[in-house]
Amino acid sequence: MSGVALEKIVKRFGDAEVIHGVDLTVEPGEFCVFVGPSGCGKSTLLRMIAGLEETSDGAISIGGREVTKAEPAERGIAMVFQTYALYPHMTVGENMGFGLKMNGHPKSEISEKVQEAARILKLEPLLDRKPAALSGGQRQRVAIGRAITRGPDVFLFDEPLSNLDAELRVEMRAEIARLHREIGATMIYVTHDQVEAMTMADKIVVLRAGNIEQVGSPMELYDDPDNRFVAGFMGSPS
Ligand code: ADP
Ligand code: MG
Repeated sequence: MSGVALEKIVKRFGDAEVIHGVDLTVEPGEFCVFVGPSGCGKSTLLRMIAGLEETSDGAISIGGREVTKAEPAERGIAMVFQTYALYPHMTVGENMGFGLKMNGHPKSEISEKVQEAARILKLEPLLDRKPAALSGGQRQRVAIGRAITRGPDVFLFDEPLSNLDAELRVEMRAEIARLHREIGATMIYVTHDQVEAMTMADKIVVLRAGNIEQVGSPMELYDDPDNRFVAGFMGSPS
């Protein structure tokens, strides 16, 4: 299992510095949630970990290996986005196996990995369907399945449930928590929803305007917030 370490990470877009030197350790197997208001830098931080965005300064290690300049495919990560672009002309099974197929894995191995992901996500009866014939929650499960088939050490989720209705969000939260228990991978999960953070996290990282305000377990942050911002965000009693 791989942990993730961020060392003095800075991000500038042109003249604007949006991440101001973030230090963070995510332990192997941990479910770490980034929370904070819109625009505080959650996605930018996650995209730098994924290698989809360059760092302006600082270093990123995954599994003890420095990957600051490494290509996304070399980092042992898979990312699940809020908008889960599935290929409409492919079946659920083909969508889930597509990444492996592109990387030249043999058919038998792809089929095995897709079956395993489908079992974990209870998608077996839907493998031959096209995305158009799925509900929103089922589609998001396929997007998660696509990440699982690649067998990453680290899963990155960027507000994966915010397009779903409230009832489905609750169901999918439990689903992702179960996935974490079952496969035990390190997960970093971005949300602006404090309920999601409280119910899912081993560790919560509260971000504000490109800085970390506080890091701790849900109970630590709720019971003992460092400042009013964290207290307000966690809904702590004042
Ligand atoms: P969050 O995910 O927490 O809502 P983001 O990481 O998307 O926040 O954005 C953090 C800050 O960086 C915001 O001020 C946003 O406007 C800015 N930003 C994000 N991406 C870009 C970009 N490609 N170019 C310029 N500014 C950006
Ligand atoms: Mg975002």
